[in-house]
Amino acid sequence: MTSTLPLRIGILEGDDIGHEIVPAAVEIARAAAATHGVAIEWKPLAIGARALETHGHTLPPQTLEALGTLDGWILGPIGHRAYPRLPNAINPHPILRKSFNLFANVRPTRSYPGIGCLHEDVDLVIVRENNEGFQPDRNMVAGSGEFRPTDEVTLSVRVITRTGSRRVARAAFELARQRRRHLTYVHKDTVFKLSCGMFVEECRKLAADYPDVRVDDVIVDTFAMRLVRDPQSFDVVVTTNMFGDILSDEAAGLVGGLGMAPGLCIGDGDVAMAQATHGSAPDIAGRGIANPYAMIESTRMLFEWLGHSRGNAGAVRMAQAMSAATTAALGDAQARTGDIRGQGDTASFTQAVVRGLR
Ligand code: ATP
Ligand code: MG
Repeated sequence: MTSTLPLRIGILEGDDIGHEIVPAAVEIARAAAATHGVAIEWKPLAIGARALETHGHTLPPQTLEALGTLDGWILGPIGHRAYPRLPNAINPHPILRKSFNLFANVRPTRSYPGIGCLHEDVDLVIVRENNEGFQPDRNMVAGSGEFRPTDEVTLSVRVITRTGSRRVARAAFELARQRRRHLTYVHKDTVFKLSCGMFVEECRKLAADYPDVRVDDVIVDTFAMRLVRDPQSFDVVVTTNMFGDILSDEAAGLVGGLGMAPGLCIGDGDVAMAQATHGSAPDIAGRGIANPYAMIESTRMLFEWLGHSRGNAGAVRMAQAMSAATTAALGDAQARTGDIRGQGDTASFTQAVVRGLR
């Protein structure tokens, strides 16, 4: 099925460097869309600290409502730790991920020459479960995952469900099929016999549906070590929420740091959210030096995903062109940013990618 309906895409800049890297990603996507004849309706939406000022809420109801009418959106990093302690100054992440059932956070790691990667030929993807686990504000138990029954004792509850495990594992198996057909489940079922045990049980059951995918399971501490020594031995990795959060930052460290860590949040098929792995980097915000690669690549992943899920061949070509232009710009030390051994800044990198698209 092919479709030429305009893609409706939200622009949510987020906080701090989000105001620099999201416009960069949008400029590049606009240039690529123009070259490849892809119709896009862009919809800027308020979120974060600026939305608190303009709309009285960090996730205004109008924004949430508008998101429901879109094909996907680009979310800049959110600096919620600096929000004032007000009822309307919430961290929007858990609401976004839960409202749209974005249970799989797909985080690729890839090495490029000359930018300070610790290894060559790294090409792996960590699929992190996004809506369960230890995250205190996300658990379904009594609204919070943390309890302090006495001043001496704190309990953290980790939620793992069969449904949650199965659906993230399925997303990972599907991805493995599009890549080198190798899936690694990462867990600690030696200690967390019930919770990690359930996660691994569901992965193993599903493996029967994917006889063409080679599977491995690796205990999380061993995986952390092997990721540093031998990252080339992994293709797609699936794991629970907190392990995935930690390991994807470790993976980013192998290939030049957080500026090189893109991500796409997906669910059961309807919408997707482009979101870089890194935070809002308040320490470098407003100086025009943030590396926009992760945000640009997250945006490219969104268009590739939309291209396939909506049967929009133009969006697939647009994503391919973005990939080629971004790779070329990374090879230009004058254009790329300082964190990846460049002499450039956000604007010079963005312009190099735009030139590459023409
Ligand atoms: P979060 O809790 O939201 O994950 P964090 O505490 O992990 O946030 P980040 O905001 O990701 O922190 O920043 C960690 C470090 O990485 C900071 O020194 C920041 O400047 C740097 N950093 C993050 N993103 C980028 C980027 N795109 N370009 C350059 N440096 C970055
Ligand atoms: Mg972080």
